Amino acid sequence: MIPEVIIDQIRDANDIVEVISAYLPLKKKGSEFVALCPFHNEKTPSFYVVPQKQMFYCHGCHKGGDVFKFLCEYEHIHYPEAIRRLGERIGIDVPEDNSESSLKRSVKESMLRIHEEFTQYWHRQLLTSLEGQIARDYLEKRGVSAQSIEDFRLGYAPKLWEDIPVMAQRLHLDMNHLVESGLALARQSDGKNTSGLYGRFRGRLMFPICDDQGHVIAFSARVLYPDDKMGKYVNSPETPLFHKGKVIYGLDRAKREITQKKYSIVCEGQLDLISCHAAGFRNVVAPQGTAFTMDQARLLKRFAPEVVLCFDGDNAGQNAVIKAFDILIKSELSMKVLFLPDQHDPDSFIKAYGAEAFGKLLSTAHQFFDFYLAYLCQHHNKDSDSGRLQIVQAMGEALNKADQPLLTDTYAQKTANLLNVSTQTILDQFKRIPQYSERRYTETPVSEEIDKNDEFIDEEEFISPSKQDRWLLKLLLMNESQWNWVSQYFQPEWVENKSVREIITYILDLHTAGEWSQNALLKAFPSPNVQQFLYETLVQTEENIPEKERQLQELLLTLRNKHCDRLLRNVNQQLLKPGISLDEQLQLLQQKERIRQIKSSPLL
Ligand SMILES: [Zn+2]
Repeated sequence: MIPEVIIDQIRDANDIVEVISAYLPLKKKGSEFVALCPFHNEKTPSFYVVPQKQMFYCHGCHKGGDVFKFLCEYEHIHYPEAIRRLGERIGIDVPEDNSESSLKRSVKESMLRIHEEFTQYWHRQLLTSLEGQIARDYLEKRGVSAQSIEDFRLGYAPKLWEDIPVMAQRLHLDMNHLVESGLALARQSDGKNTSGLYGRFRGRLMFPICDDQGHVIAFSARVLYPDDKMGKYVNSPETPLFHKGKVIYGLDRAKREITQKKYSIVCEGQLDLISCHAAGFRNVVAPQGTAFTMDQARLLKRFAPEVVLCFDGDNAGQNAVIKAFDILIKSELSMKVLFLPDQHDPDSFIKAYGAEAFGKLLSTAHQFFDFYLAYLCQHHNKDSDSGRLQIVQAMGEALNKADQPLLTDTYAQKTANLLNVSTQTILDQFKRIPQYSERRYTETPVSEEIDKNDEFIDEEEFISPSKQDRWLLKLLLMNESQWNWVSQYFQPEWVENKSVREIITYILDLHTAGEWSQNALLKAFPSPNVQQFLYETLVQTEENIPEKERQLQELLLTLRNKHCDRLLRNVNQQLLKPGISLDEQLQLLQQKERIRQIKSSPLL
């Protein structure tokens, strides 16, 4: 467990407005900030950040919480990881727990250091070494600027078998971790001593691959020498840091722009991406040579709901788009398609026609289903019956996967127009296609290790409080100056709702002990439902309420009297019980009188 003091320290040092504005464009509105909610789809902003209370709350989907909660929700990470990241942000080290996961973490740290050291080393080699000339020449030929080389930390790995292990030893890096990082391999004949290791990357142009936080976790290495018989690209193998299918090249540099533009552009190669960035298109990523995976789609969806696939217009490119569709649609990303003309890739297109032309081209990207319909008509003869049936079948299957009535309707019409039949016929035809039954992809936290550190939360039943109980809590929170007298007169049983009763009692207890803070209150009620209710109430206490002191007094009085009424009803019921003794009757009547007296007396 991470000590509470450290959690508090990290929370205090990470201003919620600063942290959230790194993810979303926040707009000032009075003393608060608003944005379109990242957790649900909306057209008018209902996502509020309240600096005074260091909290966020969405009036649309009712998500709310502190800075840690925001990171957990937004990055799909566990609570301890959010604490660690925000700690890192402000330079506070979070002490490790002594479990296996801390061992794993220290291995990871060592491997991250190895990647960072070699990124720097190869970058220097590229910029200054004699041997690096071949890489500099290549980059110049491809029109990669010095700024891009700097931005993407490109490098050159010398063409020497033992350069990597020798360098690693000079930098005092852990040799076992060097092998585990995939940078060096052990010679088969020998053991693991230095002389028995050789480097994986030799004489190649190095592209550091980063995670979405910007840490280098792997490399992609491009061939430079004609006698190099390995593939055009050699990549790091799968390692504890690097899972190919979970990483998207360039995301660390693109994510902010993706969030702002609300879509990402996916291109095929690293140099395409670098070219786009240099031309001012910074929301571009590349899926690392492999076909799109579910994890990559999910990663992109965290930043924006739409992708534009920007591929070569050849057959391979078209097929790649159709393959990507299945993955993207399952993660509920909407998808546009842009094919470049005349066998251009984004890099060559920008070089030939300039950034402005590329921007114009981008705005002509097709909706996926428009592309698909055209593609089907290209590949099937729409003048033959079997061709027409195949087109309708394939279109229907794809639309079923999307499962959006609006899309189904729109594209049934378009298909109908194209095939010259009625829309109803197409819809009927669609209905015959078996329903797409694969379960929708549900989101789970990204990190593969389940942190044992996660607090166990007791899911106690939470009954939604009445308007009056809510109002009471809200007024109480807005009237800190009144807490002294409230503590004296308030009786918990006046409040009907159990949760509100406990919350108010706790607030007054904290106040009496001189330990009141919003944090202490939130900590005491960890159940998600109660947390949501608390944040909902807290965000409302920023409103302007007239005569809030008088309102609080009146409400307390009303609640007290209602409580008296409940007691009176109870006594009356007992009086009606058959066989009740005279003595008991007398007692109950006295009780009734006392309650009446209380009810008719003022509160103070
Ligand atoms: Zn929302």
